[in-house]
Amino acid sequence: MSGRIRAKNPLVELDGDEMTRIIWALVKERLIEPFVEIQLERYDLFLPVRDQTDDAVTVQAAEAIKKHGVGVKCATITPDAARVKEYSLKKAWPSPNGTLRAILDGTVFRQPIIVKNVPPMVRAWKKPITIGRHAYGDVYKNVEMKVPGPGSVSLVYQPAGGGTPQTVVIHDFKGPGVVMGIHNLESSIRSFAKSCIAFALSEKMDLWFGAKDTISKTYHARFKDIFREEVDKRAADLEKAGITYSYMLIDDAVARVLRATGGFLWACMNYDGDVMSDMLAAGFGSLGLMTSVLVSPDGNFEYEAAHGTVQRHYYQHQKGEKTSTNSTASIFAWSGALAKRGELDGTPELVTFAKQLEASVIETIESGTMTKDLALIAVPKVNGHVDTQGFIEAIAERLRAKREAGVTAA
Ligand code: NAP
Ligand code: MG
Repeated sequence: MSGRIRAKNPLVELDGDEMTRIIWALVKERLIEPFVEIQLERYDLFLPVRDQTDDAVTVQAAEAIKKHGVGVKCATITPDAARVKEYSLKKAWPSPNGTLRAILDGTVFRQPIIVKNVPPMVRAWKKPITIGRHAYGDVYKNVEMKVPGPGSVSLVYQPAGGGTPQTVVIHDFKGPGVVMGIHNLESSIRSFAKSCIAFALSEKMDLWFGAKDTISKTYHARFKDIFREEVDKRAADLEKAGITYSYMLIDDAVARVLRATGGFLWACMNYDGDVMSDMLAAGFGSLGLMTSVLVSPDGNFEYEAAHGTVQRHYYQHQKGEKTSTNSTASIFAWSGALAKRGELDGTPELVTFAKQLEASVIETIESGTMTKDLALIAVPKVNGHVDTQGFIEAIAERLRAKREAGVTAA
C-alpha cells in the first residue's frame, strides 16, 4: 500500500452520542486513520462531557472551526426532560447544532447521496437536490395571540430613542380569532444569501431561490431583493464558474423541483426549508443517505450526517443485540471534510482519497452489500443485509484495494 496521505492543516473533530458515537469510532479506526495522517483537534460533545463543562466544549468546538475552517461532527443528543433524567444532567443543554449555527452564523445544506439500487421516489431525479434552509426567524421566532372577541390588533414600530411610532392595523376583529407577529433581520438574510452563494460556488451547482413576493410585497420581497444584491456582488465569480441564479415563486419552485433532474441548490426560507427538506429526504430514500453541511458566510465548513443518534439501535447495541445501522452519511461527513481540507490546503491527494472513500461506499451498496434500512427499499431486491460493523469492513476492503491499485484514480 502507498503510505498514508499527509494533511497540511488540522481538522476539527466533534464526537457525539449513542449509535453514531459507536459508528464514529469504527469509521475513524477502519476508514480514516489507516490511510490519512491528519491532526484531529478533537472536542467531545458526548452529553456527559457537555454537562461537565456546562456546555463550554460546544462553544470551544465552534471557535475551533472558525480558526481552522473545517470541522466534522458526529450526531449529538439534544436533551429534553427524558434525557435530563437518563443522564442526570444539570439542565437541558441547548441543541449543539443550534449553538454551532449561532456562533458560525451558518446555513445548513442537506444533500442526498445517490446510489443506483436505491431509486428516488421521483422518477425525474437523477442527481442530488441540495436544500439550503434559512435557520433564523419567521414563524420559528413568532409571537402569537388568541383574540378573544371583537377588537383591533396592530403592528407598532417604536423607534429606539424616541420618534414617531409607525402603526399598521392587522385586522379589526368582529369576533374571536388568532394573530401572529413574525420578524427577520437584514443581517441574517444577507448571511443566508452569502452562504448559499458560497456553497453553490464550492459545489459548482446552480442556485434557485423561491419566495412569495407577489403576496408578501415587503417581507418576502426583502428576501428576494437581498438575494439579488448578494448575487450581483458575486456576479463575476458565478459567471466564471458557469453558475446561474434563478428566482421563482415558491409554488413554481416546488413544481419545478418535481420535474427537475437535480444537481442544483435550492435556497429556502425557514419554513419552506423545514418542510421541503423532509420531503426531499423521504423522496431520496433514507435518512442514512442524507448529509448535512453547515457553511458560514465567511467560508467555514462543518460536515455531518443529517440523521440523529439512532437511539433505538443504540439500545439494541447496549443489550448486546446485533445492529444494522447505516454509516453512509457519517462516512460522507468525513469524506466531505477531508476533501474540503485538501481543497483549501492545496493537497490534491487528500481530495482523491476522499473520492475513493465515497466511491468505495457507493460500490459496496451497489454491489448488494448494505444495511437493513437500504435492503428494505433496494431495487432489485437484495437477499439479507449486513450488520453495522460488516458494512464498514466491506467498505474498508474496497478502499484498501483502491489504494493498493494506485493513488491517482477514484
Ligand atoms: P434519528 O437518530 O435520526 O433516528 C430515527 C430513526 O430513523 C431511527 O430509529 C431509524 O429507524 C432511522 N435511522 C436514522 N438514521 C439511520 C441510520 N444511519 N441507519 C439506519 N436507520 C436510521 O432520530 P431520533 O432517534 O428521533 O433521535 C435520536 C437523537 O438524535 C435525539 O436525542 C435527537 O436529539 C438527536 N438528533 C440529533 C441530530 C444531530 O445531531 N444532527 C439530528 C436529529 C436528531 P428504525 O428505528 O426504524 O430502524
Ligand atoms: Mg422538518
